[in-house]
Amino acid sequence: PGEVPGSATDALRALDRQHVWHPYAPMPGKSDPLVVESASGVRLRLAEAAHGQRELIDGMSSWWSAIHGYGHPVLDEAARDQLGRMSHVMFGGLTHEPAVRLAARLAEISPGDLEHVFLCDSGSVSVEVAVKMSLQYWRSLGRPEKRRLLTWRGGYHGDTWQPMSVCDPEGGMHHLWSGALPVQVFAEAPPSGFAAEPDEEYVAHLHKMVEQHAHELAAVIVEPVVQGAGGMRFHSPAYVRALREACDEHGVLLVLDEIATGFGRTGELFAAQHAGVTPDVMCVGKALTGGYVSMAGTLCTPRVARGIARGSVPVLAHGPTFMGNPLASAIAGASLDLLLSQDWRGEVRRVGEGLRAGLAGAAALPGVREVSVLGAIGVVRLDHEVDLAAATRAAVRAGVWLRPFRDMVYAMPPYVTQDEDVARIAAAMCAAAREG
Ligand code: PLP
Repeated sequence: PGEVPGSATDALRALDRQHVWHPYAPMPGKSDPLVVESASGVRLRLAEAAHGQRELIDGMSSWWSAIHGYGHPVLDEAARDQLGRMSHVMFGGLTHEPAVRLAARLAEISPGDLEHVFLCDSGSVSVEVAVKMSLQYWRSLGRPEKRRLLTWRGGYHGDTWQPMSVCDPEGGMHHLWSGALPVQVFAEAPPSGFAAEPDEEYVAHLHKMVEQHAHELAAVIVEPVVQGAGGMRFHSPAYVRALREACDEHGVLLVLDEIATGFGRTGELFAAQHAGVTPDVMCVGKALTGGYVSMAGTLCTPRVARGIARGSVPVLAHGPTFMGNPLASAIAGASLDLLLSQDWRGEVRRVGEGLRAGLAGAAALPGVREVSVLGAIGVVRLDHEVDLAAATRAAVRAGVWLRPFRDMVYAMPPYVTQDEDVARIAAAMCAAAREG
């Protein structure tokens, strides 16, 4: 770094550009990411001021995950305590208290009889596992032809191979892989509006698609109630119920991807609960550890587990190195206890009401098409592609970290964000929408 002129932070940025490959970024790096020195509560502290701000309120919860904010004493203590015992140990042939307690807790709080839990290391991998479970279930029952997945357009399920095949085929960058990915079945995206009257024609479309493809479908996989990274759209729980009914009627498994929506974000602990539905398989991640470390899980019902156990290969064929990591499990267990010991529902509602109040004027801004709030999620949709640099600059100037994309400026703050900070997030969203 001595060879690079300027401040220590400039030197760090130069090394970053030279060596560090960021998500969805070219190499060598061209962007100028802000350097975060530390994070505490709902604030990120920058190594040096940007646009007059050294501290930024995190409107993104580090991509849906930091629901309790940063450096929470309870989670810090759980991490320290577990580090004093072991941070990792292999999970094949060995087990440990943090993972056992976490799995039992997840089984207890999740809908219906989802009682078997596979603990892995990222949301994308939990979707891979869900797909494996589904295909293996049908193979074990002598139906190997049931190996395709049906999903909605406009979805997002992760960046590894199977998840990419069920992402929105037109959105994101997954068109890069067309021709190489497994070919799945796409139903139209659900009509927008969480509280909108269900569209009966659309319900019929879902039934028809499941019926038509049932002979080749292992599972239907969707994000319940909120399609997140594929476009931030909310839809009626009635469509999730319709899929449950269609799957039951035509012998197809239902996988719900709760990686973004899980742990209270939409106002219910799991978004499936808006619909009163129990999936056969459910994926969780992101907020599972309160955003501290990477961990995700795939839950399934006894029916799925027993089906797999009947096969010629009766074990779930998955087992990379860092499954059931003790440090992550201990933090996840503490995060769930912390969440459930509080009035999380009230906090999510309060954050949502703050966003709604702060965004009340946004619909009248030039270029704004729609404003929507659900749980502790706020979305301002524009009538044009957002200018990422200009929108980010406007938010940072207002003291808030946001990461707008495509045609939207959105936020999902930590549940502990106090009212005045929620108001600042909403104001920053308006500024970003105006200038982006
Ligand atoms: N599924 C959904 C609904 C997501 O929002 C994401 C991440 O944004 C994933 C899966 C992938 O999770 P991860 O980024 O932890 O691999």
